[in-house]
Parts: sequence; C-alpha cells; structure tokens
Amino acid sequence: MQKTCDIVVIGGGGSGLVAGARAATLGRSVIVLEKDKKNLGGGLNMASTMRTFGSRWQKERNLPDTTMLYLRNRMDETFWRIDRKLASNVIRGTGAFFDWFEEIAPEKAADFDVGRYVFDDPADGPLGPQSGGHGPGAKKGSGRIFVETAAEKLRELGQEILLDAVTEEICTENGKVTGVKAAVAGEPVEIACKAVILACGSWIRNPELVKKYYPALAAAQPYMGESPHMNWNYTGDGLALAEAAGALMDEENRTIRMMGPMTMCRSRVMSDMAASRYSIYVNALGKRYICEGSQMRMGVFDSGSVQLEQPEGKVFVIFDENTLARTLADGDDQPQPQVPMPNMAGHFPKTLEEAHADMDPALEKNDGVTFRADTVEELAEKIGVDPAALKETVDSYNGYCAEGMDWDCYKPSEWLAPMTGPFYAVKANLGTDGAFGGIQIDENMRAKAKDGGVVEGLYAAGDICSGRFLNMTGIKKQILNDMSFAVSSGFIAGTCAAEYAG
Ligand SMILES: Cc1cc2nc3c(=O)[nH]c(=O)nc-3n(C[C@H](O)[C@H](O)[C@H](O)COP(=O)(O)OP(=O)(O)OC[C@H]3O[C@@H](n4cnc5c(N)ncnc54)[C@H](O)[C@@H]3O)c2cc1C
Repeated sequence: MQKTCDIVVIGGGGSGLVAGARAATLGRSVIVLEKDKKNLGGGLNMASTMRTFGSRWQKERNLPDTTMLYLRNRMDETFWRIDRKLASNVIRGTGAFFDWFEEIAPEKAADFDVGRYVFDDPADGPLGPQSGGHGPGAKKGSGRIFVETAAEKLRELGQEILLDAVTEEICTENGKVTGVKAAVAGEPVEIACKAVILACGSWIRNPELVKKYYPALAAAQPYMGESPHMNWNYTGDGLALAEAAGALMDEENRTIRMMGPMTMCRSRVMSDMAASRYSIYVNALGKRYICEGSQMRMGVFDSGSVQLEQPEGKVFVIFDENTLARTLADGDDQPQPQVPMPNMAGHFPKTLEEAHADMDPALEKNDGVTFRADTVEELAEKIGVDPAALKETVDSYNGYCAEGMDWDCYKPSEWLAPMTGPFYAVKANLGTDGAFGGIQIDENMRAKAKDGGVVEGLYAAGDICSGRFLNMTGIKKQILNDMSFAVSSGFIAGTCAAEYAG
C-alpha cells in the first residue's frame, strides 16, 4: 500500500500525539504509526504531575513566574553542560504547549487546578496547572487528558492513526527524509513524506541495551521482577531506525532512573515501616548501606540509585517489636516520604494489637515479601542472608543506639532505638521509571547527523531524546521532568516539522 502525507509520527504516545496534533492544527497532513495493537498514549496515560512555565493560564491567575530562577538553578546543578538554547526552548515550550492545549480544549484547561510538580522545591518550582492524584474523587491525570485531546484533534482534522504499525525503515536521499517503510497489521505500507518525528519512548524492554548501559540493573532484574506499568513496546526500535537514517547517537548520557527502596506489600503497617525512622535497611550481605529514611531525605529516585549499587539490588527493611512500638508512639508525627512510597499520615494504627491485626494476615501468606522471626539468625535464614553477618549488623546497631552515635550510617541520635525482637523484614523492591535518551537533538528537536549538521526532516521528541539530562555516574540529573519534556518537545517538534514540511 502506498500513502503520502507531510509528516509521519512514529510512536502514538504522549509526545508523538502532541507533535502530530500540533502539526495538523498548523495545516499539515499527518500519519501516526503506533506499534501497539490496541492502545494509544504510551506512558503519558499514567502521568499526572508536571511543570509548566510562563503559560497564559498561569499569568491569568497571577501565579509567580520562577522561570529564570528555575533555569539558573537547574543549570548550576548540571554544571552548565546542558545546551542553553535547548534548555530555554523546552522550558518555554511547556507554556507554549499549554497555551495551545487551552486553545483547542478550553473547558478541559479551565478544569485544571493550581499546583506544583510533586518532587519540586517550592523555592523555585513553578505553581501551574495540575490534574490528577490518587483516591476517590481524584481528577483524571493531566497526561491522559493530553493524550485524549491530541488524539481527538487528529481524528477531527481527518488525520490517520494506524495501530499495529511496525516501522522498518526511515528512507532518506542525500541526507534528507523522503518516507517510511512499515508493516501495518502485517501488511507492507510505504509512505512518502517530507518529515518524520520519532517518538517511541523508553527502551527499558531492550535487554541488550539495558545490559550495555546499566549492567547492575541487568543483574538486579531477577530480584526486581517485571514492572507491569512498563509498556512492552519499549524495545528501543526507534533508536535503531534513527541510527540507520544517519542520526548522531548519544553514548555518554543515556540514563535509566531507579526508584527504591519500595516496600508496597500486603500489610500497610509493614509497608509503612520502611518510612519509620527506627527501621534499618540491609543489603544481601546483611549489612546496612545508607542512613535510613533515604527516600524522604534524598528522594525515591536518588535513593533507588544507591540501592542499585547493592549486590543484585537486594534490600530488606528490618524492624522489631520495640521499633514498631516506638513508631506507633510517635502517632502522626512521622517522616513523610515522597510518592510512590507508602505514607503513614492519618492512618497508622494506634496500638500494637491493631498493628498486628494488619500484619498477621500478610505474614501468614508466606509470600516471600514479609517475614517474621524470633531471633535475628532465624530472620536472616528466612530472607536468605548470612545469619552471622546480620547478627553482627544488629548487634553493632544496638551498640550505636546505646552510645547515641551511629558511626556506621550517621542516623540522627533521636532515631536510634535498639532492636530486641521478635524481628520483622520486608523485601524492599527496586523499580525504574524508564530508560531515557539516545538521539541527539538540537534546540528545535531536529535529529543531529553523524556527519555534522542535522538529518533534514528528522525530528525526535520525548523519552527517546538525549539533551535535557546528564548521566552523572549512572544517575539521571535533569533540567525538566519527563511529562513536561514529552509535551514540550512534542509541541516543538510538531511546530518545527510543520514549518519544514510547509
Ligand atoms: C506509571 C507512570 C507514571 C508516570 N508519571 C509521571 C508523572 O507524574 N510526571 C512525569 O513528569 N512523568 C511521568 N511519567 C513519565 C512520562 O509518562 C513519560 O516520560 C512520557 O510518557 C514520555 O512520552 P513519550 O512520548 O516519549 O513516550 P510514551 O508516552 O511512552 O509513548 C511512546 C509510544 O511509542 C510506542 N512505540 C514504541 N516503539 C515504537 C515503534 N517502533 N513504532 C511505533 N510506536 C512505538 C509505544 O507503544 C508508546 O505508545 C510516568 C510514566 C509512567 C510509566
């Protein structure tokens, strides 16, 4: 089958749909090729918390504009190694995107609330439009609203969205994009076009790439298990397509972001004890490796990077009857972790009886996640750790509690409470929110070319792009969060590709 259009978008997720809809509203004909057989929207369907800078929506509500302060601070944190033009374009692109969204869906935009990106420092994080949340009555997440709106706009403007579409080649002539070869529902399709926008998302489901860039993660994967929220299409095909079309690939700054320790389990109390200031974390060697409460102090992402460095990424949260009692006695005065960690506020039981009523059914399941034992050695056997090593760790810890000085991991003295048993352990999982980067882009989302300059007509958007973050010894240091970058880069790519194709 032969088709013709101005712009082909490869990947019908967040950035791809925004890019396609934006180009269509500028009068270009667009075909979106989505690999999934049924679903559009990719990871953006699940995203809700974001940053927006300088939008009309914010100005109308007299919200303070922190753009310059935010940019300076993020550039300081990344040692001014991020391209400044790219940084300011994608930051401004968030506001330009939201202005456009408001134009095409004014009622939806009006229903957004004023809020802040969940991981932001109020000192420089912008107050802006937010939608979503958890629990009964929570509004639909921003990401899903954007995905639905962009897909509706594409359909309204008569553009094609093809599911079950596997792209085989981006065709070029003299370094210029001329078309795409794909298989749609198994049937070959050739599309002649002027521009291609690659928006295939993460590559976390490509074992070779994960092993190449994050061998420690490949080693930890049997322990982590499969992450159900990670799309099976995240196999990195877009990277191979870009490279074959002559794009300059990034080897230095591709990153995978970790999350941990995560203790969601059948018992809310056991899950929450990971956030208790009195628990300890041990690795597979039975040793402490960090000052506990790291999710609250460092954030769940940076704390996850420390967990990844532990043998096979394995970590257990250990507490006992005494530390449980001390935690209950603190009532609602608990350290509050960042999402997606459990959160003790307001629901933690008041008595040990209530706590055990919550814990016992989970422990009886014997599911390899929650454990109880009368002695440290018995607990060690159950969690597969050397009993002598764990005994030494707990004994040393109790010594630090007696001394009031934690010479191992530097816990505040008021958090030190000895463990005397019976003992409990919760397997603390290690998660990831994706693998990022690969295609080198300029400030207008044009794919840079291997031989210098750009591949004419080739654009990229979303997670597949490098540029907005650095890989600093394996840790992702970014200037903008993923969803904001996805919609901003999609908007810029759609705008620039539309101009080019016109
Ligand atoms: C559970 C979850 C919650 C999140 N929450 C937040 C949040 O609150 N805030 C935030 O900032 N970020 C969040 N993110 C991250 C954010 O959703 C992503 O960064 C964003 O979706 C990236 O957009 P994208 O277009 O690059 O990828 P996606 O939206 O994932 O879309 C990629 C699309 O490409 C398709 N595809 C893959 N390969 C091909 C191919 N070869 N051909 C055609 N199609 C292909 C995929 O099927 C998918 O539909 C979250 C992610 C997840 C998974």
